[in-house]
Amino acid sequence: MTLIAHVDMDCFFCSCEERDDKTLANKPFAIGQAGTRGVISSANYLARTYGIHAAMPVFKAKTQCKELVIVEGNFRKYSIISRQIMQQLALLSPRFYQASIDEAYVDISHLFSRFNSLEEIGNHVKEVVRASSQISCSVGIASCALTAKIACASNKPAGVTVVTKQREFLSPLDISVMPGIGKQLAKNMRSKGIQSLGDLGRCAPIRIKEWFGERALYFWQIVRAEKETDIPRTKKPRSVSKEQTFLSDTKEVTVLLAEIRHLAKEVSARLGKKFFRTIAIKIKYGDFTTITREETVRYATNSQDALVTSACKLFYVHYDRKRFVRLVGVKAGNIDYEASLQTTLDIFMKR
Ligand SMILES: [Mg+2]
Repeated sequence: MTLIAHVDMDCFFCSCEERDDKTLANKPFAIGQAGTRGVISSANYLARTYGIHAAMPVFKAKTQCKELVIVEGNFRKYSIISRQIMQQLALLSPRFYQASIDEAYVDISHLFSRFNSLEEIGNHVKEVVRASSQISCSVGIASCALTAKIACASNKPAGVTVVTKQREFLSPLDISVMPGIGKQLAKNMRSKGIQSLGDLGRCAPIRIKEWFGERALYFWQIVRAEKETDIPRTKKPRSVSKEQTFLSDTKEVTVLLAEIRHLAKEVSARLGKKFFRTIAIKIKYGDFTTITREETVRYATNSQDALVTSACKLFYVHYDRKRFVRLVGVKAGNIDYEASLQTTLDIFMKR
């Protein structure tokens, strides 16, 4: 039998900050841009108990939690810490998949004979992460990768959740915990009286198809443990992007530019060592019309500064200042894996 561990860092960006600044321990804090006009990008668990969450304007967060500390994100640092963690996790098994900057799947089947229980394996994985970086993570273990992910998310922070009976585990959970069941689908399901994954599993497949379309049968099969998903196969992404919706539409250029800069830094961290050739921005206006503008550079680059500067420039040039903005996004595209393998010096010398 295959055993898959889903590993997810607990509040990753905040954990990185807390690790290096002990004065932050036991304080509600959030990563965001300095100044009161910015937007929160990530909040620690204590801040979350005050209702602070991503996308909330800093001034609003401050009213809701007076002692909230705002820390300007250091995405270079998060990227380095992520790399340290992922390198160690990858050593656990040749079947390893990094799903994002702070999330990975590891095949742990071969560890089964070396430990007394699956919980022990989970704790071992946590220990590997802690030893590599002093960062806390949660682990979900199941024979289905998707179930492992749901299990991991169900018990955070620092949880180890082992699922041996997929259907029993999933049934009491709310439908919204299933990756792929978005807001709209969840709403449709609730309108048919389906609240829990168990409710979904008890539906007749013909109804599922009729109400929510063929694709929803996939969730139905997972819930009934008639299907198990495997670790995603290593795919090479062609682009890395990040978007932010504002809680209320804005046309303040300083706020918008600060957000673009912030997103560009986060995209850069998520890229890690990958080189890219295209920088793109997206602006969704208040009336939902969307524009994207991009720029392609001659030589593949990995520079955070280049990404930030280009993204800000694109925004500055193309933003229609009379209009309110609902969402902005930044993308690094045309990822160049060959260039990524070469050293910066090589590239420098080719010019
Ligand atoms: Mg995480």
